[in-house]
Amino acid sequence: MARDARYDVLFEPVRIGPVTAKNRFYQVPHCTGLGWLRPRMVAALRGVKAEGGWGVVCTEYCSIHPSSDDLPHPYASLWDQGDIRAHALMTEQVHAHGALAGVELWVGGARSTNLFTREVAMDVANLPNSIGLPFQARAMSKRDIRELRRWHRNAALRAKQAGFDIVYVYATHHYLLAHFLSAKTNSRRDEYGGSLENRLRLVSELIEDTRDAVGDSCAVALRFSANDEGSSDERPLTAEREDMIAILAELPDLWDINIQDYSQEMGASRFVGEASLEAHMAYVKSLTSKPVVCVGRFTSPDTMVSQVRRGIVDFIGAARPSIADPFLPQKIEQGRIDDIRECIGCNICYTGDATSTPIRCTQNPTMSEEWRLGWHPEKIEPKGSDSTILVVGGGPAGLEATRALGQRGYRVMLAEAGHDLGGRVTREAGLPGLGEWARVRNYRVQQIQNLPNVEIYFDNRLDAEQVMAIEADHVVIATGASWLADGRGLHNTEPLGSIGPAERVFTPDDIMAGRLPDGPTLIYDDDHYYMANVIAELLRSRHIPVTLVTPETIVSAFGAKTNEQDRIQRRLMELGVDIVTAQGLAAFDGKSARLECIYTGKTTDIEASALVCVTLRRPDDDLFHDIESLLEANTEYRTKSVTRIGDCLAPSIIAAAVYSGHRYARELDSGVDPDNRMKYDRVFFTDD
Ligand code: ADP
Ligand code: SF4
Repeated sequence: MARDARYDVLFEPVRIGPVTAKNRFYQVPHCTGLGWLRPRMVAALRGVKAEGGWGVVCTEYCSIHPSSDDLPHPYASLWDQGDIRAHALMTEQVHAHGALAGVELWVGGARSTNLFTREVAMDVANLPNSIGLPFQARAMSKRDIRELRRWHRNAALRAKQAGFDIVYVYATHHYLLAHFLSAKTNSRRDEYGGSLENRLRLVSELIEDTRDAVGDSCAVALRFSANDEGSSDERPLTAEREDMIAILAELPDLWDINIQDYSQEMGASRFVGEASLEAHMAYVKSLTSKPVVCVGRFTSPDTMVSQVRRGIVDFIGAARPSIADPFLPQKIEQGRIDDIRECIGCNICYTGDATSTPIRCTQNPTMSEEWRLGWHPEKIEPKGSDSTILVVGGGPAGLEATRALGQRGYRVMLAEAGHDLGGRVTREAGLPGLGEWARVRNYRVQQIQNLPNVEIYFDNRLDAEQVMAIEADHVVIATGASWLADGRGLHNTEPLGSIGPAERVFTPDDIMAGRLPDGPTLIYDDDHYYMANVIAELLRSRHIPVTLVTPETIVSAFGAKTNEQDRIQRRLMELGVDIVTAQGLAAFDGKSARLECIYTGKTTDIEASALVCVTLRRPDDDLFHDIESLLEANTEYRTKSVTRIGDCLAPSIIAAAVYSGHRYARELDSGVDPDNRMKYDRVFFTDD
């Protein structure tokens, strides 16, 4: 298919100083949880994005010197020859597809951990460590500033040697340069503090230094916040920022714009929609003739075109949309809009950085697996036999297994007990704020519809005998999991003895099926992610008084890793939910609940006429075990294997269900060695 002429503007080349991007698709710097620790994995991940059509592909934050170290978070680094070799792996792959490679040089200041190097962090002033470690950063002397400029310059030279085309000066996200800019943190009395010009001095010098060092062949990008501290989602504050941008306007070759509040900049879809930064940054282009890039979780090509046509940005910046679909630009170019795997805004990708582990994505199970498993987001090995496959259950695991097996060319039958597909995704997408999650289903159903070798049977709740009667060569059980109502979870390892009566006790499955409590309700959250708090939101929208109790010390502790905990807490407080932390549930009798302090064991009783248990799920694996028993008892069956996947194997996040289904499809007839399934990446040895 040819691309729609409406989208031509997205494929125009754009000049950035001495280099030219082939189109307007720009993968801004984003973390991968791989960094300097996993050079081959990260190089392949970036290379696949270039293959998918992104005109610019950047690194994650890249330390210029051991004084900026962020372990346990695996940042990138450009400290020595070994690092140059590691980055060259990436730039070669990016260049092979005609894209430009950008590097985000990073100076951490008081926000770096330095737990690896044990260097004392330096910052604009004597500051507390911003992430709460019990160390302080020391105030930089003018000699330190000269040293810093030398380190930055040398890192830029190494970046050029590694093959980068765009070198960043990174002045946002509460790192050292942002502290120099801010009147709040910059208390200096020398020429680097006080007036606006003085606070801008170091950033200007670094831009000039970088241009002087590498500007003959590399563009210099400035990553900068467009709004002032104190802005809120609805109320942009830009006064001082406008002055800053006006002063620096023509100095960099490119402006990479973001905003102060990271929880909006990469907000979960539950709280923040597409193109949400526009209100804060739309003025930037009027102040500079240089190209501007900004993110906005853009997945709609029409929104992208609108941003360019209305003069908001020159480049469509993307982290998450490029993670969910590395081939998004190519799909637009080829007129395959329906094939775009749209980001759902769940922020599971962010947990890679937050937990210092390889990035994963709910929509794209191949993320981080490009090198170690050889998984490509679009291509897959053709089928390895003429086997027929029966997939039982059309949730995210079953759908992804069906889609990928179908793509391989197998004949696949998908049997679903209900009238519709999507399983938990369909149910959860009906909860407040989670509507975009339906994209997990929509993408897969859309793809499956184009596969003539896949048949779907609705309203088919199969038992083991029926499964055997179908005589598929392989059976995949993707029947999901059910929430328990007995209080058992992380805190209560045993079911609670005194919990009832049954009609006053609810689970998330009840709520999603429309069975709601009608009086004051206690939601007991021993799951610690989104389910308890979206149910609280739902019940408050029905004016039901809600108390949310958790044995954790904060609401939605895991939400901190998806960068939404503070927004969840704020939302619950605004909705008038009573929040009770550090308390376990000991008993419930339909009129009141007994809570137990996790520290002292002291009990308190609170009134509630209903209890919603958000605790543990039980795999719905009876069918699997029944089939296994049949297969063991009778070797005459045609069926050669039965495998459980997704929540039926082990209840988890949606990303794990999708991955599980994808893995099954990849590994069927592949001869994969179960003892040595993946290649093992680690840093190069170097004597330099
Ligand atoms: P997962 O997250 O692992 O994909 P879900 O709970 O989302 O699991 O989906 C499980 C799906 O399996 C649901 O759509 C459910 O209706 C279906 N299902 C459960 N048991 C059977 C069965 N015996 N036969 C067919 N479909 C089933
Ligand atoms: Fe989007 Fe979720 Fe994938 Fe992140 S993990 S890119 S938010 S779909």
